[in-house]
Amino acid sequence: MLKLSNIQTFYGNIQALKDISIEISEGEIVTLIGANGAGKTTTLMSVSGIVPPRTGEIEFMGQPIHHVTPDKIVSIGISQVPEGRRIFPYLTVMENLDMGAFLRKDKDGIRQDIEYMFGLFPILSERRNQPGGTLSGGEQQMLAISRALMAKPRLLLLDEPSLGLAPIIVRQIFDIIAKINTEHKTTIFLVEQNANLALKVAHRGYVMENGRITLTDSADNLLSNEEVKKAYLGI
Ligand code: ATP
Repeated sequence: MLKLSNIQTFYGNIQALKDISIEISEGEIVTLIGANGAGKTTTLMSVSGIVPPRTGEIEFMGQPIHHVTPDKIVSIGISQVPEGRRIFPYLTVMENLDMGAFLRKDKDGIRQDIEYMFGLFPILSERRNQPGGTLSGGEQQMLAISRALMAKPRLLLLDEPSLGLAPIIVRQIFDIIAKINTEHKTTIFLVEQNANLALKVAHRGYVMENGRITLTDSADNLLSNEEVKKAYLGI
């Protein structure tokens, strides 16, 4: 579904990604783990067109997308949930969800999908008329995920969904990530610093260090890999 081939991405003269190749098949949850500043967010930004790679290729469903603009990338089926959530704080929960569907014209489908989001996250239903900025961090993360899903993506890019949230909320959000993958049939590319959680929900993983992929394997194998245990799982 998604194929990154030897991409190199820069911020001015600083090279953030060095020869990155990643493949994701339809239906998978694939995680990218690594330390702070390794280049995980930049990898997602390269896919969503916000920081396009300088060289290399990115294909989505067989079509090259590395020169495609971010709005067009959303319209072909890739939505990103950015790090730090970034919902619209002055818009209500309902209005935030409507914004996620701004490219869609099927009003009935939009209503149905809003109800589906309220089924996934019942607390959002209770808060439907409240401004997004008044929600707790966990609720804002739920809203950010729901808003991205309102675009009906085939591929969901999730950047650090656990960041700054209490363990109980994180567990709830990761359960929903698994559900979105199995029930909603959405392929997921998950960037996480919490490697333990990410590898438990993912099918496969990539490890990134200093802008390079250093290891890739099934999530189960990575969980039992001695290097990964030492560096990322604190075991
Ligand atoms: P984190 O978990 O802290 O977000 P990360 O693995 O997602 O880390 P990136 O945010 O992709 O890492 O950063 C990769 C490298 O690019 C880092 O060296 C970072 O300092 C640099 N970088 C990121 N954003 C910019 C920017 N806007 N301008 C210049 N350098 C940047």
